Amino acid sequence: MSFVAEFNSLPLDALVKKSLATSTAVARDAAAKSRLSLADFAALISPAGSGILETLGRRAHAMTQQRFGKVIRLFAPLYLSNECINNCTYCGFSRDNPILRVTLSLDEVKREADALKAQGFRNLLLVAGEHPKFVSNNYLRDCIALLHPEWPSISLEVGPMETEEYRPLVAAGSDGLVVYQESYDRKIYAEMHTAGPKRNFDWRLETPERAYAAGFRRLGISPLYGLADWRLEALSVAAHADYLLRNCWKAALTISTVRIRPCAGEFEPLTHLADRELAQLICALRIMFPDVGIVLSTRENPKLRDGMMSLGVTMMSAGAKTEPGGYTGAGREKIHHTERGIIKELASGSSEWAPVDGHATNATGQFNVADERSPAEVAERIRELGYEPVWKDWDAALTA
Ligand code: SF4
Repeated sequence: MSFVAEFNSLPLDALVKKSLATSTAVARDAAAKSRLSLADFAALISPAGSGILETLGRRAHAMTQQRFGKVIRLFAPLYLSNECINNCTYCGFSRDNPILRVTLSLDEVKREADALKAQGFRNLLLVAGEHPKFVSNNYLRDCIALLHPEWPSISLEVGPMETEEYRPLVAAGSDGLVVYQESYDRKIYAEMHTAGPKRNFDWRLETPERAYAAGFRRLGISPLYGLADWRLEALSVAAHADYLLRNCWKAALTISTVRIRPCAGEFEPLTHLADRELAQLICALRIMFPDVGIVLSTRENPKLRDGMMSLGVTMMSAGAKTEPGGYTGAGREKIHHTERGIIKELASGSSEWAPVDGHATNATGQFNVADERSPAEVAERIRELGYEPVWKDWDAALTA
């Protein structure tokens, strides 16, 4: 049985209601348990749970140190392409946004990767929009094969594929797959995804299972907070994680805690996850899943990221650029617009994102980052806070 069947039978609305009505005593009981049910998780993320945030924080902190030690793993996203055939209302790369686009050549990908390597990174996340013409499977395979000799860990965040399509990517040297469900609320999901293959909710929901079957041994999941009710999303991702831990148990699982950031298209979040609630959520995830990696990206500001380290976060991006060529300017000469899969020459003033006087600086990014510190500055801050920054946390030799 896939997670879709299990997901369809979850009493999510009832769990959200139960969460809202939780008493402090029930939240305290849940926080003290060694094995938690989804109902216990609902109690941890409840308004009453917010009232005992210090207690949650102490437990989450102790569990994180016990299971992971005092380390923060660092990774960098490398955007290969911002071409996309989907329209996702909240994303700057949406097909109908008149943005500056580019797909990096293999040489340009290498230049970008070399720049990241020089900054210390050994853990890479290759990111691309979904566009079979520009981001073909062969292109992805070639990118991975090119980088694999020098990069111990290469994860992908690209359009979902069939298991058989994933296999060559694993064989080429990719070990991880990240796929955000964006929203676990079917109605909101349908409203947010107005065109393209991403409209298929179930296909996306089953992606981690297909990736696991193809041999990926690191899986990353998350909703995008700011679309549906955050408690419903949190309960859903907890159920999803629980399913993957039972059924894809050879894989290391990470859960990201991603909130919507400003982007092209000017999307305004539909719901709000406050900073305090984000802290509560991270604590709840840690208490429910002692061994799962928790990721916090540069979407969050430095102060908040620094504060969350002690609560349960184990992995962070640093110095991230969200446009292809962002680290070196690679690909700048061929930046263009794309309409219906056809490349169009740039015209000055054709959109607010178009170049001035015909000169583009960079392709358009997916969203604006909030933590603009360099990787070295982030690493230094991690050390100041008593943690060790880890640049390389995996080696193919470990699974040989
Ligand atoms: S979220 Fe992904 S699929 Fe949707 S528009 Fe952005 S890049 Fe494309």
